[in-house]
Amino acid sequence: MIAQEISVWNTAKEMIRVGLRPPIVHVATGLCRNRLRNFYRVVHGKPAVQGRVSEFAYNRLKTKSQVVEAMMYCQLYYGLSGDRTFRVIDNNLFVEAYWKYKATSPDGIDGTTAWYITRDLRERQLEIRRCPTCDREYLFDPRSDLMSRCPLCGR
Ligand SMILES: [Zn+2]
Repeated sequence: MIAQEISVWNTAKEMIRVGLRPPIVHVATGLCRNRLRNFYRVVHGKPAVQGRVSEFAYNRLKTKSQVVEAMMYCQLYYGLSGDRTFRVIDNNLFVEAYWKYKATSPDGIDGTTAWYITRDLRERQLEIRRCPTCDREYLFDPRSDLMSRCPLCGR
């Protein structure tokens, strides 16, 4: 393998350790699905669950506390990636931000949810808004009742 391939493969391994399913990692890195599936089985001790995954972050954020957790992850990722957040997904920064988040919030959102947040921000389907009432930032998605207003004060 050439150096660049090795580096992509190392990134893919980290994404699988975070818990992303092989099809997602395949799309993000372009690496072979079978190798990703094998690696997933080695890391997690069982094959990845088959079937459809919710396609958007808002589908996976069902409670107020999950929405607040999502924003905590988002602030860490945005802190690393800055305004590039809205143009590209940096797979390595995603992994770094997720482990930082997980260290402070071990029972919070899972890696797949964090991935969809990252992707939906890039696609601009999810926005970071500032609440005019309490001045906190929150994740805005008009498709979700919970996320179409500030989760902290409800405005
Ligand atoms: Zn508010």
